[in-house]
Amino acid sequence: MSMQTKYLLEENQMPRFWYNIQADLPKAAPAVLHPGTLQPVGPDDLAPLFPMALIMQEVSQEREIEIPEPVRDVYRLWRPAPLFRAHRLEKALGTPAKIYYKYEGVSPAGSHKPNTAVPQAFYNKEAGVKRLVTETGAGQWGTSLAFAGSLYGLEVEVFQVRVSYDQKPYRRAVMETYGARCVASPSNETAFGRSVLAKNPNHPGSLGIAISEAVELAVQREDTKYALGSVLNHVLLHQTVIGQEAMEQMKMADAWPDVVIGCAGGGSNFAGIAFPFIGHGLRGGEKSRIVAVEPAACPSLTRGKYAYDFGDTAGMTPLTKMHTLGSQFTPPGFHAGGLRYHGMAALVSHCKELGLIEAVAYNQVECFEAGVLFARNEGIVPAPEANHAVKGAIEEALRCKREGKAENILFCLSGHGHFDMTSYQKYFAGELSDESYDERELAMALEGLPSVPEPA
Ligand SMILES: *Cc1c(COP(=O)(O)O)cnc(C)c1O
Repeated sequence: MSMQTKYLLEENQMPRFWYNIQADLPKAAPAVLHPGTLQPVGPDDLAPLFPMALIMQEVSQEREIEIPEPVRDVYRLWRPAPLFRAHRLEKALGTPAKIYYKYEGVSPAGSHKPNTAVPQAFYNKEAGVKRLVTETGAGQWGTSLAFAGSLYGLEVEVFQVRVSYDQKPYRRAVMETYGARCVASPSNETAFGRSVLAKNPNHPGSLGIAISEAVELAVQREDTKYALGSVLNHVLLHQTVIGQEAMEQMKMADAWPDVVIGCAGGGSNFAGIAFPFIGHGLRGGEKSRIVAVEPAACPSLTRGKYAYDFGDTAGMTPLTKMHTLGSQFTPPGFHAGGLRYHGMAALVSHCKELGLIEAVAYNQVECFEAGVLFARNEGIVPAPEANHAVKGAIEEALRCKREGKAENILFCLSGHGHFDMTSYQKYFAGELSDESYDERELAMALEGLPSVPEPA
């Protein structure tokens, strides 16, 4: 038997539609509210930020939304993405479980994020937009949007969270290679950034602050829109190509997953792999356990409150009901920048409330340990974010070993870690520790949640 099993779809088997889980949920997710009126937002309220095609996807209840042919054509650069069976890792763990992983690191940016950056740039271009502004944590999203912008001749401006700007100079170089402009956030380029710096000139930044800066710029100019790399319904929708392909590939492997696992920052790669499987179960098909893995230092799903909150720190975005640590919360500067967000996607949070998914949290050192074990057996060096999914899969495989169960485990390997080697070096030097957040700051941030009357 060959040790390497790789399940590849033909190019013409790439999905033609994105899958919208809203069509199958037993109960609709709570409405998104206008921060001023506390009334449900309508498409027009979002028009300064996003092109109408994306807003319509945001609110759509249709199960299938067609992927435009020009977008599929770009997807063909790296999709369908491969699914692997991790034979060597199974052997190293001595587990009877079969471990499969869907590898999204084959995209130009090295992660799942171009799956949504490309359609977002496409729809903006179609709407006549000239410039996109955005934020980036680890640099993955900024890189992905920079790449997508270069395909469509759009100017791209990226607010990169200060700690990651300093830790990852090569990320910035890649963004600049694609033609984007990169600014460390908090910055002096926006009123909000200046107000944060006035209070703390050494502020490490956070995704919430960078989002506020990007939104502030986007609303100032007619030809400029904002793009978000996670959290929103349309982003999760675009990522469902991951799970739809994985479903076909698991059929090729003749192995339906008992457990589906993804790491969760804002929730997009997790939703991407999980939602098609959840929908399959909701429509009467086989059910899988679905597990979101988050960092113990920023645990929105496992420690956050399910409440209405802002998506950013300045309070400029609409209010969404989600698992949140509070929009004033600044997570410690641990090494999975893509998971340092105070909230969770509304649809993922809603699925958690409906009991459709589980959530667990792990510390960074144990996640790096899992990632190194994975690299030494499977060859791929995972992104620090993806290490959380690897850790989740290993824990499930070890449970199967204890229980003597030959379950099928599927996880999303959301990206490679080639730009994160400083973090690995620190891990090998014994300089990584488990960062914990400040309980008092969390309590204060939760106390500061906007008060929104429960709808009747
Ligand atoms: C951004 C990122 C994440 C976290 O974002 P989600 O929206 O939760 O998927 C996870 N893994 C990688 C490789 C990333 O770049």
